[in-house]
Amino acid sequence: MQAWVIGNWKQNPATSHDVKALLDDLLTAVSSKEQSDIAACQLMVAPSFIHLTAVSERLKGSSVLCAAQDISAHSDSTGAYTGDCSAQQVADAGATWTLLGHSERRQYHQESHETLLNKLSYALKQNLGAVLCIGETQAQYDNNQTLDVINEQLSVIEDVIKQQPDITDLLAARLIIAYEPVWAIGTGKVPTVSEVSATHRHIKKTLAGFSSALATISVLYGGSVNADNAENFAADPMIDGALVGGASLRADSFLMIADAFSQSNK
Ligand code: PEP
Repeated sequence: MQAWVIGNWKQNPATSHDVKALLDDLLTAVSSKEQSDIAACQLMVAPSFIHLTAVSERLKGSSVLCAAQDISAHSDSTGAYTGDCSAQQVADAGATWTLLGHSERRQYHQESHETLLNKLSYALKQNLGAVLCIGETQAQYDNNQTLDVINEQLSVIEDVIKQQPDITDLLAARLIIAYEPVWAIGTGKVPTVSEVSATHRHIKKTLAGFSSALATISVLYGGSVNADNAENFAADPMIDGALVGGASLRADSFLMIADAFSQSNK
C-alpha cells in the first residue's frame, strides 16, 4: 500500500518569497530522490488559500500534490459567504485535495458535525479528495474517551453515506483519515506507537463497518511527527502515513519523514 506524507503548512510561511524558497527546496530534494528513496510515498502539501494558486502552479509536473487546508461549509460553488473559499474555487486554483476538520478548525472556528457533513459532500461533489482529521483532546485522552470521540467524529462519514448511498466507491478512492490527538499537535508529545496502532485498527474496523468498500482507506497519524520519530510510526502496519505540521516547513525534515514511510514499504 502506498504511504502518504502530507504537509499542513497552516498559516505559514509569512511571505510569497518564503513560500517560493520552501517549494524550491522541496522540489530540489524531491527530484534528487524521486527514482529511489521516496518513490513508495505520495507527498502532498497544503498551503494557505492565498498561496494555493502559486503553489499548485509550481508543483505541476512534479509528483507532489497540492491540497487546500479547508473549504466553505456554505456552498460548493459561489455565494455571499465573506471570507470563505469554496470547493470549486480551490479546485480551480489547482488543489486536488482538501484537509477537513483539523482540530484547529474545530477549536477556533467551532466546526460542528453538520459543518463537516456539508464540507465532505461539497469536496466530493467538486471531485476533491478529503483528508478528514479526527482526534481527542488531552482531557478526553485522560478520561479514556478516545474511541468514543473518534466514533462520533467518524459518524460524519456514515451520515454522508446515508445521504448518498451510492457514494461509497468515491469515498474509498477520495477519503483519507488523519488521526491526530489534539494534545500531540505542535507539543512535542506523542502517543506510543502501540496506542496509535490500536486506534488506527479501531478506525479501519469502523470504516469497514460503514461499508466494505471503505476497508482499505488510508489512516495517517499526525501530531509532532519529526525526522527522529517517523521511523517508529512508519514501522507499524496500521499507520499508512503522516500528517505533518511543523516539520513540513523544512524540506529536509519533511523528506526524511517521507523516506521513513517509503522504506517501511507496506
Ligand atoms: C498538524 O497540525 O496537523 C500537525 C500534525 O502539527 P505538528 O506536526 O506540528 O504537530
